[in-house]
Amino acid sequence: MIIPRAEHNISRKDITPTALKVLYRLQEAGFDAYLVGGGVRDLLLGLHPKDFDVATNAHPEQVRKIFSNSRLIGRRFRIVHVFFGRDIVEVTTFRKGLLDEEHADHQQSEHGVMLRDNVFGTIEEDAVRRDFTVNALYYNIADFSVVDFTNGMQDLKHRIVRLIGEPEVRFREDPVRMLRAVRFAAKLGFELDPAISQAIPKMHALLDHISKARLFDEWVKILMSCHACKAFELLLQHGLLEDLLPSIPKLWHHSANAEALAKAALENTDERLKTGKSINPAFMLAVLYWPIFLEYQKKFEQKGMHKSIAFEHAISEAIQTALKDMSIPRRFTTNMREIWGLQRRFNAHPNKRLLDIPLLPRFRAGYDFLLLRASLDPSLKPLAEWWTAFYEATPEMRHGLLKTKPKKT
Ligand code: ATP
Ligand code: MG
Repeated sequence: MIIPRAEHNISRKDITPTALKVLYRLQEAGFDAYLVGGGVRDLLLGLHPKDFDVATNAHPEQVRKIFSNSRLIGRRFRIVHVFFGRDIVEVTTFRKGLLDEEHADHQQSEHGVMLRDNVFGTIEEDAVRRDFTVNALYYNIADFSVVDFTNGMQDLKHRIVRLIGEPEVRFREDPVRMLRAVRFAAKLGFELDPAISQAIPKMHALLDHISKARLFDEWVKILMSCHACKAFELLLQHGLLEDLLPSIPKLWHHSANAEALAKAALENTDERLKTGKSINPAFMLAVLYWPIFLEYQKKFEQKGMHKSIAFEHAISEAIQTALKDMSIPRRFTTNMREIWGLQRRFNAHPNKRLLDIPLLPRFRAGYDFLLLRASLDPSLKPLAEWWTAFYEATPEMRHGLLKTKPKKT
């Protein structure tokens, strides 16, 4: 189906100049060029896309020749990145959805055939290999129409996340699509097609086979979606949280506090992102695994370990637990240690060393974490208020404040 320019709301002024430039240059070189994916979907919904992807019938080598400022990426060189300063436009050649990227690589090494030459396809084949109907709409730069092979426009209108094809087949091909379905439902405020909700309980265990690094990437996308709170709710509801972060639903099951702390942090995260502030994924990790840290701490102290040693041990054990759930890059586990370590230092006896604490790396994150804890635990209020006063005071005033620090809790 073709929706002419007069019948949809996508205007060229909503598309970044860089994406437009790429579309026009491909067209001038005699190729078909379309915007596709999340960019088209979000424009049709009146949202601001975070990036634009281009699809074309030009082969990657041909795209490379058109743009001197471009680079082939991906193990199998199917994608071209065109650079404009810090802005990148991703250009993909139409291809068939034989298998997804990872599977295709596997296939190639197993049979030694060059899939690369025969994976290219028509625009229609390119559309049906995509995950959801609303992600498979194409904006044609030749006549500014929207091309719809999968009834995506209708699903967009009815606000439904629907898989292209049979859910069981599509989830088996790539189980991460279950997480993506929930992420888009949360982000767009869409309903999941009942066929998706019904397939998830049968298929979710397949997420076991997904690499922990890919799960971490997907988790970050959920966190950055501006609708992480809603997405977590849906993940929990559909039983997917136990695949993404196995330790967390178990924990929430017996600790309402743990769940409340996470929910409060997720709301903060959404709020920060919506108002243009940045977030550090390590902060949310520190929140999620903090109750697990506390359990270890208690266990080690009960065993008679010295407090400071129990603290350090508990940090390491809690991080090990987190690493069993997802593969978390080193810099983030380092940040988790720093944020947790600060909680102990905030509680220390007043002495001159406290004066250095606001200068420590991750002080701000650690302080925000203390405020979050205090928002749910009134016994921490005096400490949090003291740190607020101390933080806001001038360096000269801070000396005087040391005497007023609340007793250790
Ligand atoms: P976002 O707003 O999060 O960027 P998006 O729809 O652009 O959403 P991307 O992950 O950037 O999502 O992927 C771009 C497009 O590639 C998708 O819209 C979809 O058409 C296709 N796609 C991505 N991942 C998959 C997948 N696992 N299976 C099938 N198609 C996919
Ligand atoms: Mg995208």
